[in-house]
Formats: sequence, C-alpha cells, structure tokens
Amino acid sequence: MSKIIVIPGDGIGVEVTASAVEVLKKVDAKFNLGLEFEYRDAGGASYEKYGEPLTAETLDVCKKADAILFGAVGGKQWDSLPVDKRPEKALFGLRKGLGLYGNLRPVKVYDALIDGSPLKPELVRGCDVLIVRELVGGIYFGARCESEIVDGVERAWDTEMYSVPEIERIARLAFESARKRRKKVTSVDKANVLASSRLWRRVVSELAKDYPDVELDMLYVDNCAMQLAINPRQFDVIVTSNMFGDILSDEASVIGGSIGLLPSASLGEGTGFFEQIAGSAPDIAGKNLANPIAEILSAAMLLRYSLNAPAAAEAIEKAVDQTLADGYRTAEIFRDGCKKVGTTEMTAEIIARI
Ligand code: NAD
Repeated sequence: MSKIIVIPGDGIGVEVTASAVEVLKKVDAKFNLGLEFEYRDAGGASYEKYGEPLTAETLDVCKKADAILFGAVGGKQWDSLPVDKRPEKALFGLRKGLGLYGNLRPVKVYDALIDGSPLKPELVRGCDVLIVRELVGGIYFGARCESEIVDGVERAWDTEMYSVPEIERIARLAFESARKRRKKVTSVDKANVLASSRLWRRVVSELAKDYPDVELDMLYVDNCAMQLAINPRQFDVIVTSNMFGDILSDEASVIGGSIGLLPSASLGEGTGFFEQIAGSAPDIAGKNLANPIAEILSAAMLLRYSLNAPAAAEAIEKAVDQTLADGYRTAEIFRDGCKKVGTTEMTAEIIARI
C-alpha cells in the first residue's frame, strides 16, 4: 500500500489534480499498485478553513506519506494578506518541512506540438532534457545585507556558499536520474570565476567515479544558456546550483511550447513532492480550460521517483504522447485541424489510451 497525499490547492489546482488522480486510479487498476489517496488543503483554500496557508497537521501527514501530489496555490483575493498568511507560504513550508533539496524539471518537445516551440523544428525535434536544480542552498539562502554604508557609499550583498555534502547529494540525484534515462550528466557552473563553482566541479568530478556508466560533461553557465537555445538535444540531465537552475529551467521550459505541459518533482530526504510548474491560473480556473497534461505527467514522475513503478509511469507518458499525436488539444495549444477539448475530455482521452 502506498499513501499519496493530494493537495489540490487553489484555482486550476483543483481541476488538474482531479485529472491526475483519475489517471493514477487507472494505472493502479492496471498495474496493481495499491495506491491510497488522502486529501488535504493548502494555500488560499487552507487559509479560508483554518486561518493558515499550511497547518502543522497537514505538514505532519505529508511527512508520513509516500508521496505528495500538489496542484497550485494563489489567487488575487489573498494577495493583500500579511506575508506569513499568503498562499505561497504553504509551498515554502512544505519544501522546508520535507527537506526537498532537489528540483527535477523535464522538458520534452512533442513531435505533435513542434510548431508551438519558439525554436526551429529541426533544432528541437526529439529534445528531452531533465534539469536537476539544487533547491535549498546557494545564494538564495546565503548571508546577505540589504544595505550598508561603507566609506560614504551605500552597497548591498549576497553570498553564494555550497558545502561538500550539499553538492554531493544533488549530484547523486542527477547521476541516479541519468541512470534511468540516457546516462549523460552535464554539470553547469561558473568555475572560471567563482570559488563555490570550483568546489562544485571538484565534488561532481569525484562523485562521477561512482557512476562509470554515466558520461559526465562540464559547462559554464553562460555557455549552457547559449547551448540550450542552439542545440538543446545534446542534453540529457543538467545539474546545477539554485540560482543557475532557476534561470536555466525557465529558459528550457519555453522550448516545449506550453507551460500547461510541464511537470516537476521535488525530492529530498523524505516524501517526494510532485506538481505542475504553472500556478493556479485564476484567469481560466473553473472553466474546464486547463491543460491537465502537466499534472498528469507529474503523477507519472511520482510513480517513477517515489513509488519505483517505472512501467506505470511509462504507460502514462505513452498515453499522453498518443493523445497529442491523435490531435487532441486544450485551448492554449489548439491549432486549426486539431480537436479542441476541455480538461475533462483531455483526461478521458489519455485514460482511454492507458
Ligand atoms: P500561472 O502559471 O498561474 O498562469 C500563467 C498563464 O499560463 C495564464 O495565462 C494561465 O491561464 C496559463 N496557464 C497556466 N497553467 C495552464 C494550464 N495548465 N493550461 C492552460 N493554461 C495554463 O501564473 P500567474 O498567472 O502569474 O499566477 C497565478 C497565481 O498562481 C498567482 O497567485 C501566483 O502567485 C500563483 N503561482 C503559484 C505557483 C505554485 O503554486 N507552484 C507557481 C506560480 C504561480
């Protein structure tokens, strides 16, 4: 028996998690996985019920579960709340509380949607990259000074710092992920300038000896940003620090054409956390317009990374491929000649192909 905590959250989070759960129930029946679902609130939905975006009880239940399927949080009606009551506080609370140090974002270009990519079809056909970003260290969490006066001049500063164990655990996650894919890791840093990057490079090279079956490549971040735009197919797994990963994963995310297609996983010491990349999309919430594919693919990642059920994950991914190849499109990816469907119809088409 594997317990999955489902946190729909706000806006389209409610619709897309419903789709993903339906899909999980289908693969559960087919592969006999013994899935059990329990629902919890977070974000605005939790604030309305309990006066908190994330309750201690919810976090506790999440810590004891096998995996978390998360929708999205946020909405205008909660924007003016004090910082500690705002919906996004739930996300930070879960990341911190669950010790999620690695964020995995796959970017895949579907043949059927190749015209939606901002890059030329011949550059992106078959592109399938996994970005592994360090999530709880580096300059976003280092010591900082908002303002100080030195010799009559105002200045501010931030600190990039990584320790050997922090680099080792994220690099290990990247090598392990590569073993489940095409067995190539590109480590990205700025070792020509930064001391923290030189340590990063040394530790990753050392760790690579434990993974002789995985090819290791090193790139400077400026070159990597360029390579993602001119030849993204060269990459399998990219591993990098928090800030470089933030920037590169957003750059890579547009290659596929729609934010409604992109899943993610956050992994750490305990329970894995799986969510679509997009937010709660209040502009389309409750209208059966949201593309459920990102959340359905997040459910596939949940099966692969937290429940060790790769065959079930693959069945979902193949069904998504086939549904797109058969011409089904939600509104944001619709093109003439395709079949326009809503959230529920897209979900049903995917389930029918599992
Ligand atoms: P958003 O990602 O919610 O939406 C951006 C645009 O993409 C919108 O036009 C939306 O309609 C579209 N879109 C997003 N997902 C889609 C899908 N599955 N299918 C079709 N179209 C889709 O970003 P935003 O509008 O800047 O933010 C809305 C709210 O979400 C804010 O309150 C923000 O704080 C929150 N947010 C939450 C998360 C999270 O929970 N992880 C992430 C980002 C933003």
